Order: sequence, then structure tokens, then C-alpha cells
Amino acid sequence: MKLKFLGTAAAEGVPAVFCNCSACKRARSVGGKNIRTRSQILIDGDTLYDFPMDTYMHALRFGIDLSAIKRVLITHSHMDHCYPQEFCMRGEPFAHNMTEKTVDIFCNAAVKEMFLSDTAREIRENVKNSINVRTLSPFETVEDGDMTIIALPASHTVGEDCLVYYVQRAGVGALLLNDTGILDAGVYERLHGFGAKVDIAVFDCTYGATKRGRGRHMGLYDVTEQIELVGGIGLFKQNVKLIATHLSHNTDLDHDGISKLAEPYGITVAYDGMEISAGE
Ligand SMILES: [Zn+2]
Ligand SMILES: [Zn+2]
Ligand SMILES: [Zn+2]
Repeated sequence: MKLKFLGTAAAEGVPAVFCNCSACKRARSVGGKNIRTRSQILIDGDTLYDFPMDTYMHALRFGIDLSAIKRVLITHSHMDHCYPQEFCMRGEPFAHNMTEKTVDIFCNAAVKEMFLSDTAREIRENVKNSINVRTLSPFETVEDGDMTIIALPASHTVGEDCLVYYVQRAGVGALLLNDTGILDAGVYERLHGFGAKVDIAVFDCTYGATKRGRGRHMGLYDVTEQIELVGGIGLFKQNVKLIATHLSHNTDLDHDGISKLAEPYGITVAYDGMEISAGE
């Protein structure tokens, strides 16, 4: 399994879209790994984890055939994870010779409702018929082609059942945990009960080098505690790769700064364009 981090920022981006704080000014002048677009992960070239408004730019930057995407796993309805209007362009007369005829979108009920209302004004019937929006509940498991998908309950915002996901393909498992605050042992124990094993674990790290405890996101020291918890439950394979993503300018740390703090814990801080693989 190969993960490519297409975007690694929190909602406002780094530098943030309207911000002139010192971290954003530094990011603009230094560039490189300090420039972060909205969080999105490409899995094996055919699956997207989230669909922010930066998806089109990610496709341009990294040379991705978006028509080859078979499934999109959407976590929740926040705009940095869910931009349904773009799907109005997925079909004739806006797209020709598409690689895949149809695409499946997995999401919660709130995202489905948002998808239907946000596309209602513009979507053509032929386009609508090629998109299957499938709602999932926490702990629901789906076998989709050669991929197993398990929806997990996130701890993020009220008003909807925010999800995060575990995916497995060819014996390789990835635990993808953004956006979410810390999760209770019970969530990981149930995942363990499904027989899940984790080769790659990706954690929300919006709060940078802090520990927040209960909240809608995690900081680095929440992540280290979650790693201990998950490890203790026996979900991790021996050479598990630990990644932090969904970073914010509000931490006032550049990529090298947060990376240095994460390194002693064996955590790699993601950057836009970073690839990581496990298995064959
Ligand atoms: Zn977010
Ligand atoms: Zn800023
Ligand atoms: Zn969010």
C-alpha cells in the first residue's frame, strides 16, 4: 500500500488564507515543506481520503488522473474535507474518456445531505448517475473491490457522526485518524476485534507541540499517548510507520521545528507530496 500526502494543513492552510502572522510570513518566504494545502491522502492511486477544495490543485501538482479514483472516503462535512460541487464536473460534457465510469463516495449522513444540496443546482443527470454516495455508520465494515474499509467514530464536532477510517488491502492496514481528538480505548479495542492490524498510522496533529486532552483535534503529546494506547491493545505491526498530519500555523512551528520534536517518538511529520509505503 502506498500513501501519498497531497495536502497536510488544517482548514485555513499554511500559510493561512487570510493570515499575516509570523509563522505564515515565514512559510511564505521559506516555502518548501512549510507550504501546506488542505489535508488529503491518495491511497494506491485509486482511493482518496477526503476531498477538500484543493483537490484540483493536488491533481495538477502531482499528476493525478482524478477519473481513475474508484472511491473517496470522506470524514466529515467541514469544508477542508468535503467540496461536493467539484463532482458536478465528473462526466459529459465536462469530462471525456474517463478512466472509471463510476465513483463511490463513502461518508456519514450529514455529508450525503450536503452532497445532494450543494450539487443540486448544477449537477447533470448523467453525472449524478455515475456517483454512488454510500453512508456509513461508526464501526460499519465494507468490502469494496480488494479493499476493506472500516468506519470509526471520530471525536470532532457536534451535529454529525464524524468518521475516520481503517483501510486494508493485500494484508496491509492503514489507520487514518484525522480530523479527530483523542479516541477512547474502546474504539481501538473494537477495531482490534475485527482482526485489524496497522502498518501505517496517521494522526491528527493540529495543535502542534501541545497536549490538549479531550478536544476536536490532537497535539503531538496526545498523539504519543494514543500511540501507546494503540500499541498496548496490539493493533500495531512491528515496523509500524507513525505519521502526524493536519498541521496549523497557530503552533508557530515550521516543518523542521515540529519534525525535531516528533522524531524522538518515532513520528514522521507529513508534508505535501510525502509518500510512504508498506507491504509489497
Ligand atoms: Zn480539518
Ligand atoms: Zn498565520
Ligand atoms: Zn474538521
